Amino acid sequence: MSHTDKTTVAIAGGGPAGIMLGLLLARAGVDVTVLEKHRDFLRDFRGDTVHPSTLQVLDELGLAEELEKRPHRKVTSLTVGRSGDPIVQADLASLPGRFPYVAMMPQWDFLDMLTDHARAYPGFRLLMNAEAVGIAEEDSAVRGIRYRERTEGEDGGGREHELRAVLSIAADGRDSGLRDAAGMVPTELGAPMDVLWLRVPRGSADPSGLNGSLGEGAMAVAIDRGEYWQIAFLIPKGGFEAVRAEPIASFQETLLGLLPFLGDNVREIDDWSKVAFLNVTQDRLERWYRPGLLAIGDAAHAMTPVGGVGINLAIQDAVATANLLSRPLLEAQSDPDRFAKTLNPELLARVQRRRRMPTVGTQAVQQLLQRQVISRALAADAELPLLLRAIGGTGPWSAVIARVMMYGLRPEHVRSAAVATPAHGGAGPPA
Ligand SMILES: Cc1cc2nc3c(=O)[nH]c(=O)nc-3n(C[C@H](O)[C@H](O)[C@H](O)COP(=O)(O)OP(=O)(O)OC[C@H]3O[C@@H](n4cnc5c(N)ncnc54)[C@H](O)[C@@H]3O)c2cc1C
Repeated sequence: MSHTDKTTVAIAGGGPAGIMLGLLLARAGVDVTVLEKHRDFLRDFRGDTVHPSTLQVLDELGLAEELEKRPHRKVTSLTVGRSGDPIVQADLASLPGRFPYVAMMPQWDFLDMLTDHARAYPGFRLLMNAEAVGIAEEDSAVRGIRYRERTEGEDGGGREHELRAVLSIAADGRDSGLRDAAGMVPTELGAPMDVLWLRVPRGSADPSGLNGSLGEGAMAVAIDRGEYWQIAFLIPKGGFEAVRAEPIASFQETLLGLLPFLGDNVREIDDWSKVAFLNVTQDRLERWYRPGLLAIGDAAHAMTPVGGVGINLAIQDAVATANLLSRPLLEAQSDPDRFAKTLNPELLARVQRRRRMPTVGTQAVQQLLQRQVISRALAADAELPLLLRAIGGTGPWSAVIARVMMYGLRPEHVRSAAVATPAHGGAGPPA
């Protein structure tokens, strides 16, 4: 049996884009319902880099102190090396602003922190185990989201519901089903690599922070997660079967060659079942909206892991969307005929106009690094890429690239009003 429910904004996807937008809209007094298909945020295949631009947004929301209380590590240096010799050593501590570092926070902790805060606003509702399965459509406009309740471990079945909304948001990530249901098809930009994702215990004498390493025909990035290294091992696109055909011992040797500090701990990877395969894509929608529907975050533009910028772009999209739309949504909320009307699509176009340049620019930087550094490392090109030599020096380019990657091309600031008051006594709207 199904039933119909109503909200002002229905958001598919409880990732960084969806949760941050839900928080900001609820804070502005807009009723919002976020649908997340999983029962919690505890998934391993998520990045954990919270960049200075996002830290700034958290500070504007009064959450900087809250972040300090939660488990995270501050990374102020970024090293990319070859055969143990550093090529790039970026010192983030010299960046301008109050947060000259990357906070490494498991994404589940980051999302828990945002939802804990968002739940204190009366207009915020988060439905877990709720999978968006399609759009509700009338007169060529999207009028809401159809979703079904998932029960543990099942993929089909479950009760189906309709959530009517003035505006629906596709924030359901790079494989967005809502975007597909709305007939919006992204343009593939391509990526030369896929990623193998694995954990190796961290020894007490190990370095810290983010450590990238270029080899001949291989490349890896080790992310310091305290007790263990989260390792992204890059392979040529589509090359997993060939890598897996090798004995696990030779994979261990390659890893050790790239990241010598792993030492004997590398033997923990004694079976391919401990190595997960992640397909890397990069794409972008030509048009991020349809009447009644807006795509943000990876649903509008899938980012590759290069530079660890995807979460931060998703957050910036959410901030820009709330800045531009919270007032018209608040007005629409008081209209008794709101569910038969369509929010002016020109407002949605403004969000795309605002966020298109930083998206295209960041994807272009990712493409450049992929072509110049990753493809060449994976092709066993012994010559050090010109780009790395340029970044590796102390010249102005290293500072420019570090700044673009850390702050983004158009950092957003929270401008949407804080109308609603959180129910708890914690961080609330600024006075
Ligand atoms: C291997 C790899 C490593 C990466 N590492 C980093 C990194 O270190 N730092 C970084 O900034 N970025 C990283 N990225 C990119 C980053 O993960 C994304 O850009 C970012 O998470 C996008 O946020 P989002 O909210 O748009 O989408 P997502 O984070 O993908 O969130 C989408 C959410 O929607 C939910 N969902 C999906 N379908 C439905 C549905 N039908 N109904 C309801 N809910 C649904 C999902 O469960 C998920 O919670 C990495 C990407 C890859 C592939």
